[in-house]
Amino acid sequence: MVEQPKLRLYNTLTRTKEEFAPLDPKNVRMYVCGPTVYDDAHIGNARPVIVFDVLFRLLRHLYGADHVTYVRNITDVDDKINTRAFERWTKKRPLTEEIRALTDGTMAQFHRDVDGLGALRPTHEPRATDFVASATQPTDMVRIIEKLIARGHAYAAEGHVLFDVPSMPNYGRLSRRSIDDMIAGARVDVAPYKRDPMDFVLWKPSNPETEPGWESPWGYGRPGWHIECSAMSGALLGETFDIHAGGLDLIFPHHENEIAQTCCAFGQENGPVKMASVWMHNGFLQVEGEKMSKSLGNFVTINELLTTDKFGGRSWPGEVLRLAMLKTHYRQPIDWTVRALEENAQIIENWWRALAPFHIATNPQDAPTKVSNEVISALSDDLNFSPALAHLHSLASSARAGSAIAATELASTVDFLGLRRWAWDAHEQAHLFKAATDDAFNLKIEALMDSRAAARAAKNWAESDRIRDELLAMGVVLKDNKDGTTTWEARR
Ligand code: AMP
Ligand code: ZN
Repeated sequence: MVEQPKLRLYNTLTRTKEEFAPLDPKNVRMYVCGPTVYDDAHIGNARPVIVFDVLFRLLRHLYGADHVTYVRNITDVDDKINTRAFERWTKKRPLTEEIRALTDGTMAQFHRDVDGLGALRPTHEPRATDFVASATQPTDMVRIIEKLIARGHAYAAEGHVLFDVPSMPNYGRLSRRSIDDMIAGARVDVAPYKRDPMDFVLWKPSNPETEPGWESPWGYGRPGWHIECSAMSGALLGETFDIHAGGLDLIFPHHENEIAQTCCAFGQENGPVKMASVWMHNGFLQVEGEKMSKSLGNFVTINELLTTDKFGGRSWPGEVLRLAMLKTHYRQPIDWTVRALEENAQIIENWWRALAPFHIATNPQDAPTKVSNEVISALSDDLNFSPALAHLHSLASSARAGSAIAATELASTVDFLGLRRWAWDAHEQAHLFKAATDDAFNLKIEALMDSRAAARAAKNWAESDRIRDELLAMGVVLKDNKDGTTTWEARR
């Protein structure tokens, strides 16, 4: 048996690459902060989904598929959700139902998106609202808040409960920020009920008319954002687990606050800062060199890339998006360009062409058997994808030269990486069909324009007008230019 390479992961907590040693190799546990479901996920949100899906696949390969538990939550209680639901609300049903319809619909779209990106579903996908106050879960938000109050790490004031930041000696270890930086970074509200400006909200009152809420020892209200991940990870993975991950923006304040809550609630406040052994953060994605934002008009959703031709004049198979995402090391910033998508589509097409003569059955769900050891070694070094990619290229060229062994290894490895060969054909056929119908459309227009030119030459104005109207009905507007030529454009 080939000896497995040692897995090393960069830990934000220690700022070093460390050898990974699971607390329990029979149950490797990972938590990734998931989406807030008020709007379609954008391509930046796809980055943690894809990167940590590859880590999930790698862990399953190294420890066995049944020995890894991956939790990615759904944030379905949040003020952005409340605002969006309130805007849409026609008062025909209770606001809570409006909120549920919004979060259900956004979550269903998120599932279509991540399935389209070839990501495996996590083992558990808890919704925050199921963990506010739950009789059936091992822990929940209300019980953690009660523990924090009892242990002197939180206090209730004016319907709020706040985490008492100065009560935790190690607060700020993950982000390594000074208190001044943290105050500036968090843009903290200086509310009269706060003892310290850094104290953050665990619970806040809800207006029953306009906001969702739960009965609690502190009155009718709802949780702050950070507490939900302490509750869901605590309930599903335990008080300490192996890996906690998310985007770089979550280091502070979100993850810092999760650590504070979990460690202080479960009696670990005086030990080394933990909650999870390894904290991993993906770098940020920019679009064509700029920060993605609605106002800049460069806001790209996963769904638009997968199903419309808004970017680069065509839709993109999930495999192409996935490869484009993985090519940049996950901790580096990524610049998302249509050009890069075109290049990656070419790479994938070349691989599939190299594989085609071998007719290797695809293996979408089962653990692929002949995964390249070089690729596993590369990924085991903090998900280093470049050497993995180089090896895939060399396998493809051996396959092109006729090596069935290389072809089998390439097929098995791309299956392992979630680059789904079986999805490609259907997508590309649809794309080619569309291109073909576009061509047919152009040919028809040209033919009609030629007939019209002939009718005009014969001074048959009635026929010329009839053809002009026929084109207009097809959405085509003719323009007779001064130089005697005729051009067309789509009717606006
Ligand atoms: P949100 O729904 O904003 O909480 O984000 C869900 C996940 O996407 C979090 O892990 C974020 O860190 C991550 N994320 C959001 N925007 C980007 C971006 N532009 N690049 C990379 N990751 C992002
Ligand atoms: Zn979280």
